[in-house]
Amino acid sequence: MLKKEFKRKDVQRARNLIMGNSGASTGTQIGYGKKIEEYKEGDIWTEGKKTWTIKNGIKQTISKLDIVKKEVHMPLCCPNCGKVMKKRLDKPSYKIHKKCHDCVIEYEHKLRIRGEYNNYIKNLKTKNSLDIVDEMESYLLDAINSSNSGFVSEDGVIEKWKGGVNKKEWSQKIKEATKIRREHLKKELNDEEGTKRTN
Ligand SMILES: [Zn+2]
Repeated sequence: MLKKEFKRKDVQRARNLIMGNSGASTGTQIGYGKKIEEYKEGDIWTEGKKTWTIKNGIKQTISKLDIVKKEVHMPLCCPNCGKVMKKRLDKPSYKIHKKCHDCVIEYEHKLRIRGEYNNYIKNLKTKNSLDIVDEMESYLLDAINSSNSGFVSEDGVIEKWKGGVNKKEWSQKIKEATKIRREHLKKELNDEEGTKRTN
């Protein structure tokens, strides 16, 4: 099993890793043909039953669980005021603001006084949308990958499909759609920050 999976691309990948060449691409065979797909740092694709990416030159699987895991970690005390975070609203506050709920209330109160509150909320919503795009991408790539009997429509709905899924094509579509959305949101964020500076 191990021997069988140890192909030339693995050697190449190991070489890239040793050379610190994390931007280098790695080849992966698709289907039964001789077509070789080249992937590079940061790419996301599906292969077998998993969703893969290349991070720091290492090919690895990604899943929606990775995103959840990142969010759950919370320190015992608020990094801002040092109080123990044990209230019900501390957790969601920390997730978004990296401080306890009381600190968030205080901070938002200051912003209201300065008349910056609306802009701040708008920014938060945009940042949240960016997180959702990441989660959706991961989720959708997982979904098309784990099913042969459904496909994901442009608005993210998983529909039943007779005759199987073109996983590669749909992965590509999902990546394109999320990329466009991500760029749009990032532009929105930059525009807002630009407005703040000139005010
Ligand atoms: Zn605090």
